[in-house]
Amino acid sequence: MTPSPAPPPHPRPAAGTAETVRVTAGRRTVYLVVLVVLPLLLLAVAVPAAWGWGVGPRDVVIAVVMYLVSVFGIAVGYHRLLTHRSFRCRRPLRVALMLAGGMAVEGPVTLWAAEHRRHHKYADRDGDPHSPWRYGDGGLALLRGMAHAHVGWFYTARRRSSRGHWVPDLLADPDVRRFDAAYPAVVALSFALPAAVGGLWSMSWAGAWSALFWGGLVRYAVVHHVTWSVNSVSHTFGERPFRTRDRSSNVWWVAMLTLGEGWHNWHHVEPTCARHGVLRGQLDPSARLIRWFEQARWAYGVHWPDPDRLTARRDDRDDRDAPGV
Ligand SMILES: [Zn+2]
Ligand SMILES: [Zn+2]
Repeated sequence: MTPSPAPPPHPRPAAGTAETVRVTAGRRTVYLVVLVVLPLLLLAVAVPAAWGWGVGPRDVVIAVVMYLVSVFGIAVGYHRLLTHRSFRCRRPLRVALMLAGGMAVEGPVTLWAAEHRRHHKYADRDGDPHSPWRYGDGGLALLRGMAHAHVGWFYTARRRSSRGHWVPDLLADPDVRRFDAAYPAVVALSFALPAAVGGLWSMSWAGAWSALFWGGLVRYAVVHHVTWSVNSVSHTFGERPFRTRDRSSNVWWVAMLTLGEGWHNWHHVEPTCARHGVLRGQLDPSARLIRWFEQARWAYGVHWPDPDRLTARRDDRDDRDAPGV
């Protein structure tokens, strides 16, 4: 892999723009329901449903495909392409990746990217929207912090990242603006698509309903908790082979579920790098997908890891304080 020159820096925000904006209680309640309560309820229903009636192969196929589309959409589209600009790509692929990310029902991309860029700037310090170390290092304080980093912050944060401050480049992009405006329709598609495939596949309403449940609702709940695990687990447990100012870490099972995103330590060293799993044996399916896009000439200017940088940032001390998994 050949390292490419670093991508251009994010445009500077307008001087004096506030980093955060107040969110109304109504909006926080919407976040609470859509991002916390509903997914937990669906998972609570899914377990006895799978146990009692089982889940057929048709629904498993639909749910797995929808899972891959959503998680790749978040990892490759929302995160590596649009938030960090670790590569550039042709317009149809960019729009397709944005749509795939929208299928995860984690908000319009400008909102997602704004919170995430703030996370990188303040990682595990004051100003980080979701650090598990917020309440301290002790047992209960850390447990409370992990709950906060996982889902709690969606409701408790009274101020959210200002899009005008953090993502002026995305707001200036007409495709992104169109996508944000169409976001409610994308969410509807995220559930209508599996239902339609299930209905047509089985030629029955029952097939449509069960595909809506497994491929739409349960899949979105699982995708959410898998994504949020990067914020909670991959800032708490695991290995930290590289020197960073934060507690970002590598957790293999989070990496596998998130298709590469759980290799979080190097990502905090070099957020614009298209590969997160940079060490031997660290499977990173999202980086592999970007490589395939590059080979097909759909993606270009990919920022691959620089071996000299990897060596320079290795942490060879013995006193790393990772609690282990
Ligand atoms: Zn992080
Ligand atoms: Zn990131």
